[in-house]
Order: sequence, then C-alpha cells, then structure tokens
Amino acid sequence: MTVIAPTPLLPEVAAFLSKEHGLLIDGRSVPASDGGTFPVHNPATGELLAHVAAGTASDVDDAVAAARAALPVWNAMAPAARADLLWRLGDELERRADEFGQLETLDNGKPTGEAGGLDVPLCAQLFKYYAGWVTKIEGDTMAPSSGMAMHVYTRREPVGVVGAIIPWNFPLLMCGYKLGPALAAGCTMVLKPAEQTPLSALRLVELMHEIGFPAGVVNVVTGDGPGAGAPLSAHMDVDKITFTGENATGQKILEASKGNMKRLSLELGGKSPSLVFADADLDAAVEGTFGAVYFNQGQCCIAGARVFVQRDVYDRFVEGLAGKVASIRLGNGLAEGTTMGPVVSAEQRDRVNSLIASGVAQGAVPVVGGGTVQAPELADGYYVQPTLFTDVTTDMEIMRKEIFGPVGMVGVFDTEEEAVALANDTQFGLASGVWTTDVKRAHRVAAQIHAGVVWINTYGMFDVAIPYGGFKESGYGKELGREALEPYLQTKTVWVDLG
Ligand code: NAD
Repeated sequence: MTVIAPTPLLPEVAAFLSKEHGLLIDGRSVPASDGGTFPVHNPATGELLAHVAAGTASDVDDAVAAARAALPVWNAMAPAARADLLWRLGDELERRADEFGQLETLDNGKPTGEAGGLDVPLCAQLFKYYAGWVTKIEGDTMAPSSGMAMHVYTRREPVGVVGAIIPWNFPLLMCGYKLGPALAAGCTMVLKPAEQTPLSALRLVELMHEIGFPAGVVNVVTGDGPGAGAPLSAHMDVDKITFTGENATGQKILEASKGNMKRLSLELGGKSPSLVFADADLDAAVEGTFGAVYFNQGQCCIAGARVFVQRDVYDRFVEGLAGKVASIRLGNGLAEGTTMGPVVSAEQRDRVNSLIASGVAQGAVPVVGGGTVQAPELADGYYVQPTLFTDVTTDMEIMRKEIFGPVGMVGVFDTEEEAVALANDTQFGLASGVWTTDVKRAHRVAAQIHAGVVWINTYGMFDVAIPYGGFKESGYGKELGREALEPYLQTKTVWVDLG
C-alpha cells in the first residue's frame, strides 16, 4: 500500500486548533468549573488534536441559566431578523466548506471530500431552510362548536430551553438538525456534542457569535455522557431534550427526564434491511447497496447493512458488491484518493472488530475482509477492514446488533412474503431499501415494512425539507422538514368573551 501524504492544514483550521477550547456559555469561552479537560485525537493517526473543557453539572447549570435568560432576548428580535441570522449562518458555512470539512475530517476521520462536499453543504442548506420558517409560525382562529360568543385563537410558542445531545458520526450536521428547527421555533439551546468529536460544534457556535447571534441563545457544554449529558437531561429548568445516539443512552435519558416531565425527541439506532428483488436493475442495486452499507465508514444509523437478495440474482449480486468492497481505498481522510477513513475511535474499532470476529465464529463467510487491518502505515489510526459476509442466519449477533462500522451481511430469500418478514425481523425500524422494477411490488412492500423511511431504487437520500425518523425502538420525533419544527413548539389557546 502506498501512503499518500495528507493535505496540509488550512491556516484557519490550524489557528482554531491552537486555541483554548473552553465551554461556550453566554457568548464567552470559559474553562470547566473544576478546570478539567479531555483530549481529542485524530482517528487517522492517533495524534492529539486538542484539549477540550470537560463540563460539569455546575457548568450545565450556568449554561441552562444563560439559555433561559436569552429566551426573551431571542424572541424579542423581529422574526425577519432571526431569519436573517440563520440565513447568514448558512451562507457562512457554504463559504467555509473547506475549513469545516477539514476540521470534521480531523475530528471524525471521514474523507474530507465527504465532510466538505456533503455534510457541510447540507448543514448550510438546513439553516437556510429553517430561516424560511421563522416568519411562518402562526396559530389559528377558531369557532366554538356550540356557537358561544367567544373569539378563540391559538398561539404557537417555543417550548423554551432545549438540551441537544448528539453523537459523533455526523458531528456538524447533527448540530444543524437540532439547531435549525429549535432556533426557528424561538427556543434557546444548550448543546452537548459527543466527547469524541466536539470541535466542529465549538467552531460553529463561535461562528454564530461572530455573525451576531445574541449571547446565551446557543451554549456549548463539552464533556462526556455521565459528566455533562446526564445533568443536562435531568435538569429541572430544561424544557426539552433532543437526543441522537444509542438506544441504551436513550433509555437513560428517558429516565432522567422524568423529574420535570420534559419533552423528548429520540433518534436512536437501527438495523436497516435492503431487499433486492430479481427484477431489479442489478448494477444500480449493487451501487446503491454499497453506499447504503459502507458510506461514512458504515457509521450511519440508517446503514442498510442487512441485505437480502432474491435467489436468482444472489450470486451475481454478491460478486458485484464484493468487487466494490474490495476496491475501497482505506486511508487518512485528508489524503486525496482515500475512499474510506478510519472509524471514530480506538474503542469503536475494537467494538467493530469484535463483532466481525463473532460473525466468523458463528459461521458467516467473509467474502471480503473478516480480519483486522495489518498495514503498518495504518497501525496508529483506528482502521477497520471493510467486510462483506455471506451465509448469514438471522440469529447471528452480526444480524441482530447495530455494528456501526463497514460491515455488510448478505442473505437470500425466495418470495416477497419471506423478504418482508426478514426485513421486519428486528426491534429497530429506522430505514429500509427496496430494489425492484415492478412498481406494484415496490409500493406493496413499502407499505408492509415497519420503518420510518423506505427508499425505493435508491438509498440514503436526504433533503432538508423531507422528514426523517424511526419507528419501533429507533425512537420518536422526526427530524428535518416542517414536521421537525413541531416538537419545538407548544400551542396556547386564548379565549375572549365577546358576549
Ligand atoms: P451514544 O449514545 O453513546 O452517545 C451519544 C451522546 O450521548 C454523546 O454526546 C454522549 O456523550 C451522550 N451520552 C452518553 N451517556 C449519556 C447519559 N447517561 N446521559 C446523557 N447523555 C449521554 O451514541 P454514539 O455512540 O455517540 O452514537 C452512535 C449511535 O447513534 C448509534 O446507535 C446510532 O445508530 C445512533 N444514531 C442515530 C441517528 C438517528 O437519526 N436515528 C443518527 C446518528 C446516530
């Protein structure tokens, strides 16, 4: 394997990395109350990138107080002025796609073309999309059914202070998913980024202050789950938590939120199926399934990694997909030509490797990969062998657990009924893919799959205007689109006696 030198750092990225990385509370960068910090590493090399403040419960108190105080300030601004700020944030992100892309690659490991070419523009579009909603939040006028002489109307008010707890797989984009609708609805926020990837959130909120967002509207408390996330989710003055992450964490947050019955949105894990029927355009199905499984090093909650293929085309499909997996170029996300970077952390690499080993031990056949990365030039980074298993059975650990790594499993089916049953054989219900040229079958199967998204003859399509979110144990509360605004709003009914 040839080692390709990574692109040099942009001056603005180098300047950001060399700064102190405090908590962002009430528009200021402050150290943690006990002075604690934690190290952030580059997953491609294991090198230290920065020390970041490790927020405590007392810091969470300060951040929540700042967000509470900023609520009337934010809502006293003209909606058009708030919309303008969100739009300008989108503009700035577009202008700084290279800067944010490089920062995201350093922090998360993903190839910089994906970070700067997909994640950052989508995040920018998201702020612009929700800028449009700020001026369109309105209640109704209603007539009492009894004919009483009353004027009744509803007001749509922000739910208040929101705590957003996010994961590491799309660190910047997840900030946008939460901030866009919350700010459009008039809420203020305390953001808790994942401890593996806090840098782009800190830079984003710093940029928001540079643009003119009032102090306290968005606060960032970096730190780990128990230290910063848990006090935020239990906080009695937080009105809503929006969380994206693992199911087990979601359950803890559900429990912690009980004290003041705060509202919750939970975007949790998945084990999504991809069904390939014999009548599908097989080249398109191979290409689409490849993306469904391996995009973002497989660290996608929507990964369509449980692939089921109709028997007639099974061999051709496996041959096609295996060829694509074998051609993945693993390397530093900053190096040109890299098509897959490292996974986010040493812990995640070890977790995925142990699931790969369990697949082998339980009798699945690795037609590509199946071991650990041995290349000496990749030894310091957190790399995982892209792996494709065949001969899988539904009871195997790899078929039931979310792997969150570059691992696909291909099984076989004979009938449509069997395909639907296999697809639904999971406690999750986030996403799914159906590959067929039979339009009747496509809609029939889509209606029977228990998942929040069905992609037909495509996979992983996202748009800021289209809602997305899970069924079953994949959580509740949609992200994106108009629907994502709803959980950040509450309806007040006003009665006026006209008699
Ligand atoms: P995680 O649950 O371990 O961590 C997510 C966040 O929760 C982090 O910020 C973490 O610090 C915080 N946290 C941990 N313990 C906490 C606690 N006790 N109280 C409050 N906060 C706590 O998840 P992860 O490993 O970072 O992310 C991967 C998971 O996220 C996968 O399961 C994936 O499917 C899921 N995910 C889901 C979606 C979706 O939209 N459904 C999107 C992306 C990722």
